[in-house]
Amino acid sequence: MNCPKCKKSDTRVVDSRSTQENTAIRRRRECLECHYRFTTYEYVESEAMMVIKTDNKREAFNRDKILKSMVVACNKRPITLDALNAQVDKIIQDINDLGQPEISSKKIGEIVMDHLANLDQVAYVRFASVYRQFRDVDAFRAELDRI
Ligand SMILES: [Zn+2]
Repeated sequence: MNCPKCKKSDTRVVDSRSTQENTAIRRRRECLECHYRFTTYEYVESEAMMVIKTDNKREAFNRDKILKSMVVACNKRPITLDALNAQVDKIIQDINDLGQPEISSKKIGEIVMDHLANLDQVAYVRFASVYRQFRDVDAFRAELDRI
């Protein structure tokens, strides 16, 4: 890991800890040459994945979209953002476990519903009733944003 300031590669780790949701390691490093301090994060690499939408168009998988659709479904429910983030990590784990380079938005929606069912019944019913009609996470989110 080169120092961002002097570009020398001799650095030492001065502090290392997990982030709040335990999904990353945050390291504080110091350059042995110029003593500049900087931060690095270590994440599990998510494989590049494409989402097949209902119109057969492909787009890059986007964690944020899943989180936002769940935030909307959990509106005014007693669920913290931390809990939702942890749930999204589990959803992504399920998706990765499928071992496929592409996944349909329909399948993503079904996995999200499985997890919401365990988390909060009201959020689950909201998500399921709107989602089943649209069969597409994007269309679902657009509709929920509207109402
Ligand atoms: Zn340096």
